[in-house]
Amino acid sequence: MIKIILTDIEGTISSISFVKDVLFPYARKNIADYLKTHANDLEVKQIVTDVVKICGRKMVEQEIIDTLIQWIDEDKKITPLKVLQGLIWEDGFKKNVFKAHIYPDALEKLQYWKSKGLPIYVYSSGSIFAQKLFFTYNSAGDILPVFSGHYDTVIGGKKDSASYTKIAEDIQVQPSEILFLSDIVEELDAASDAGMKTKLILRDNQIVHQSRHKVYSDFTGIEIN
Ligand SMILES: [Mg+2]
Repeated sequence: MIKIILTDIEGTISSISFVKDVLFPYARKNIADYLKTHANDLEVKQIVTDVVKICGRKMVEQEIIDTLIQWIDEDKKITPLKVLQGLIWEDGFKKNVFKAHIYPDALEKLQYWKSKGLPIYVYSSGSIFAQKLFFTYNSAGDILPVFSGHYDTVIGGKKDSASYTKIAEDIQVQPSEILFLSDIVEELDAASDAGMKTKLILRDNQIVHQSRHKVYSDFTGIEIN
């Protein structure tokens, strides 16, 4: 019996475009400005120290900025970069530059499951800090209270079945009592290998040729048994 819902964010309950076309470009565009404006903040000082340490040489401010932008362009998931992106997004959310997107069908179903006593957890490659911003400053209002807990890649990669075993241990239920929802087959394979139940969400007429997961075009038709 399913006791816990575990969901991915990007592509599953939120549009890929919001993250890819709004959030990431905003952070890239504002890196230089944010570092200059917040140069004396402890968190920013730590980020700068970490970047210099990773590069292993003395760096002037412009080199640090260039390095961070290069990491973004190379899609590197480096901790100080992720922390800085989170801070810049927080600034954008608080200034009302944008609101995070959630598909209404997903939110409605998550709220329904929660009302039926099923806690909702999130597992996303976005940091827990960024996840919380995402739900606090959302187009649907502050929906953070819908979620009982958050996991990011600190617990392990999303295509690694050990991550799903650890999540089940952390929530203190059997993997078979968790339903994991995602738009990525490899993530669902990993969750399924760990013993979780899975469903594949393929929005916007996407097609996957072979998978062992039942496919849905949105949350409307998902039934739990
Ligand atoms: Mg996804």
